Amino acid sequence: HRLDAVDVTETTCGYCSVGCRFDVYSKDDEVLGVRPTDAEHAPANDGFSTCVKGKFGYDFVNSDDRLEQPLIRENGVLREATWDAALERVATELSELTDEYGTDSIACFASSKCTNEENYLMQKFARQVLGTKNIDNCARLCHSSTVAALKQTVGYGAMTNRIEDVANTDCYLITGSNTTESHPVLATRIKQNVRDGADLIVFDPRKIGIAEHADQYTRVEPGHDVAWINGLIRYVIQHDLHDEAFIADNTHDFDELKRKVEPFTPDEVERLCGVDPADLASAAETIATADTCVFGWAMGMTQHAHGTQNVLALANLALVTGHLGKPNAGLSPFRGHNNVQGGGGDMGTLPSTLPGYQPLDDPAVLDAFEDVWDERPPAEVGLTVPEVFTEVHEGNVRGMYIMGENPALSEPDIGHAKDALEALEFLVVQDLFLTETAEHADVVLPAASFAEKSGTFTNTERRVQLVGQAVSPPDAARQDWSILQSLANRLGYEWSYESPAEIMDEISDLVPIYGGITHDRVAREGGLQWPCRDADDPGTPYLYEDGFNFEDGKARFVPADMGEPGELPGEEYPLTLTTGRVLYHFHTGTLTRRVNGIMSHVGESFVEIHPDTADQLGVSDGQNVRVESRRGSIVAAARVTDHADRGVVFMPMHFATGAVNELTQERFDPISGIPEYKISSVRISPD
Ligand code: SF4
Repeated sequence: HRLDAVDVTETTCGYCSVGCRFDVYSKDDEVLGVRPTDAEHAPANDGFSTCVKGKFGYDFVNSDDRLEQPLIRENGVLREATWDAALERVATELSELTDEYGTDSIACFASSKCTNEENYLMQKFARQVLGTKNIDNCARLCHSSTVAALKQTVGYGAMTNRIEDVANTDCYLITGSNTTESHPVLATRIKQNVRDGADLIVFDPRKIGIAEHADQYTRVEPGHDVAWINGLIRYVIQHDLHDEAFIADNTHDFDELKRKVEPFTPDEVERLCGVDPADLASAAETIATADTCVFGWAMGMTQHAHGTQNVLALANLALVTGHLGKPNAGLSPFRGHNNVQGGGGDMGTLPSTLPGYQPLDDPAVLDAFEDVWDERPPAEVGLTVPEVFTEVHEGNVRGMYIMGENPALSEPDIGHAKDALEALEFLVVQDLFLTETAEHADVVLPAASFAEKSGTFTNTERRVQLVGQAVSPPDAARQDWSILQSLANRLGYEWSYESPAEIMDEISDLVPIYGGITHDRVAREGGLQWPCRDADDPGTPYLYEDGFNFEDGKARFVPADMGEPGELPGEEYPLTLTTGRVLYHFHTGTLTRRVNGIMSHVGESFVEIHPDTADQLGVSDGQNVRVESRRGSIVAAARVTDHADRGVVFMPMHFATGAVNELTQERFDPISGIPEYKISSVRISPD
């Protein structure tokens, strides 16, 4: 193609939360390629290339599998229908259910793959139009425990610092994050900083890629992370390495923390999770004596039945060592989806808070929403995603509206989740493809991909960035916000947004932390980091410089309790299964499994087994094995590697055949509701 015949559109990556910016090259509504944009417009990737998914993972946009027309189920079969018929069916069915069983008989799931504006409208649709309190999103499954813990300790459930700070710190503690595979461009920046002299400490059950670059890699047995983190805190305090002035000026309840970490002596930590006392000492000394330190984590910390406790422990460690409220330091949850910060939380797609994390029980907040919506949002807390599935089985939830999520693969114990989808009286799914979830739907609405829409995504560092429309959606597919508007109006409302920019104007009116954010400013200023409270506010690169997000400005030490994993290996199921991501794929694979280049690299599920464990099982590399838990049984190819620990096996979460969530358990963190994906007991035999 001649360059002058090609359109170039600057946008934000639709995969992970690093939020790389790039140019999409297109012609005649076909995406031809992707190139990183210049560093000035790309604060997250800062002139670095994109990763393999960003660069080559766009084929799904042009895929022949794309839904091009709405589908309606008739006599058990999904058939193409007009928009008019599909919207009428959805409006009628949802109205009938709310009339007969009440508004809370419906649950809505929003999506971190969609824009902020679309997520805002999804929760508005749930609360204003349907009147249900049941709105949640997929962040429940990834970082809800992070949000719960950080809100209690430092005030905001978000990354405290910038990606720029992650790239320039003096020291890292990275745990439960396979950074090179899950956040590749971030990992590249970390590795470069380590080459330039920063210290890197990695604690993880798997010898993951980032561990190859570490000054200290410590293998921990899965399930007792609170033990080694509390052990670090105890060591720091015992050796007078804590930041006394910072603690005195900025925190509450230090004495209580001191008392609660006392039992975690080096010997006890070694007994509980296999960490050598010398490793514990050297990590504590490096972290505490560094001028700045970044604490990076992901789902290896969060997806446990005590995930909130894990993150509380990390927050306590950051506070004890004073690595907060300044550049190049901080608590850095590496979020998952491209827009999980915005769509997964900021926009209020949560059962417990309104947009901007505003409380449901504050009359002044409810009044403000009522003024704009002409309808008061329900003031009660709704159901989380896992609770919705339970309540379907109880007959209390009868209809579901799912935008862009795939719980038929992402829920733990998916056999049980699929039974719930089948038990619903009405299910509408809005997506790009006939996903494993959409196969259960009564109506499927064809939506637009990131390349076919405009709006904003908020990346892991709270930066709101523009999404640019490069091509048109295929055939009759439509942008999610426009579908929601049509449905709202069919149900008697008068939404009249002409663009996502107008929706953002309503968001900035109602959400104080987005109060100064408009599309024009985001375009002009290369993104804005919240809190950004008014037109003169430049945004907040790193949080807590002037105090923590509590009335008195002081953080709270909330001592972490150590819980036991829900399942421990035993005679019948002697191995521990842990799950996660690989570089080439993304989440349930609805996008990446439709990219040929990616599938040619990693085309099927696999199970990583340590060579000694493989020997004991009589399994060789590449051989198909059967993996069984108390919930199910699947077949996958064995990968024999010492990246795995003895007795601990790993499987990716991306595949429909050999789907790992056939095996995982419905056990949840009692505070955040996150499932314990990281620990299930299994047995393995040659297939
Ligand atoms: Fe996209 Fe994340 Fe890769 Fe950047 S690192 S290109 S945001 S998937």
